[in-house]
Amino acid sequence: MNPSSLSASSHPLARYGWDEGWEAEFVPYAEQGLLPGRVVRVDRGQCDVVTPTGTVRADTEFVVPRDPMKVVCTGDWVAVDPEGGDPRYVQTLLPRRTAFVRSTSSKRSEGQILAANVDHAIVAVSLALELDLGRIERFLALAWESGAQPVVVLTKADLVPDPVTLAHLVEDVETTSPGAPVLSVSALHGDGLDTLFALVGTGTSVLLGQSGAGKSTLANALVGEDVMDVQAARDVDGKGRHTTTTRNLLALPHGGVLIDTPGLRGVGLFDAETGVGQVFAEIEELAGGCRFHDCAHDREPGCAVTAAVETGRLPARRLDSYRKLIRENQWIVAKTDARVRAELRRDWKRKGAQGRAAMEAKRGRLR
Ligand code: GDP
Ligand code: ZN
Repeated sequence: MNPSSLSASSHPLARYGWDEGWEAEFVPYAEQGLLPGRVVRVDRGQCDVVTPTGTVRADTEFVVPRDPMKVVCTGDWVAVDPEGGDPRYVQTLLPRRTAFVRSTSSKRSEGQILAANVDHAIVAVSLALELDLGRIERFLALAWESGAQPVVVLTKADLVPDPVTLAHLVEDVETTSPGAPVLSVSALHGDGLDTLFALVGTGTSVLLGQSGAGKSTLANALVGEDVMDVQAARDVDGKGRHTTTTRNLLALPHGGVLIDTPGLRGVGLFDAETGVGQVFAEIEELAGGCRFHDCAHDREPGCAVTAAVETGRLPARRLDSYRKLIRENQWIVAKTDARVRAELRRDWKRKGAQGRAAMEAKRGRLR
């Protein structure tokens, strides 16, 4: 049976997220006799791809671009050689719908691609600690930046036994997270897990959040077995964390797909200026009413944002947080530019030294 002639929902890859969109995207490759597949792991120039005929190992040589952002990554949909090819190659990367990128620097220079085609970015926040709204905003910024829909999951709800207090905490986070649903769960008691299963049940999810936020525990609850080490079991230096599975992408028993890569575990703030804008949508909207279009919402006359803070419409904390994130972004970009300039200087110096050596050799010959 030709798998590409099946309807998208009964396709063997449906549980990995195959849908009509990918089906349509894949038509020209199906005509070439290639197999569709989703990358579940990448290492050393090769990757594991789930295909309708099982998991295959494929070489990524044909699709290795110079741009590190376009490197094959977990979550990518690809076209691979059918059985018989030895080695098999990834022939094409289907265009990504969303992408999580670690920008070690600015977008103009290199970034590192962490996961592709993610629909839900679950931001895990521990209720065991005092809520740090600024930190939540940061994770939301990078979630929005990826193109995925953020969801805030307040974990360890069993540590807040009073329902009124819990409701207030949820409310506080809701006002901080416009456009993102907020739910509370207890992996220990099982509260809220059904809501989470339902949410994650369609599409592909990733777990973001600070170390200790409960990501591994949530992953285990979603997968239904202990695939991830929980914090207690990890190495003393905290670095040797590993998963007991070789896959970074798993089809979940309640539906949906989970991507969990070591890179995603450690993501910090990206240069997520668009993301920042979405997290602070109400500020960006207010800014439309400022007299100056490049208003810094500081001491400018006619500033609609500071006016909103004065009337109490906008919490001062939100504006502070917004300005802090914007400044941080600018700092990251400036730092990168400084690094690029330093590299250029080294290059010039080297060229200068070569030039001087050549001149001296010439002089020596003339002498
Ligand atoms: P990660 O670093 O984000 O992956 O966090 P872990 O999943 O390793 O969890 C950190 C700690 O929180 C561990 O000691 C877990 O046992 C604990 N924890 C996770 N979920 C819950 C929960 O629902 N309730 C309670 N009380 N503790 C939890
Ligand atoms: Zn302003």
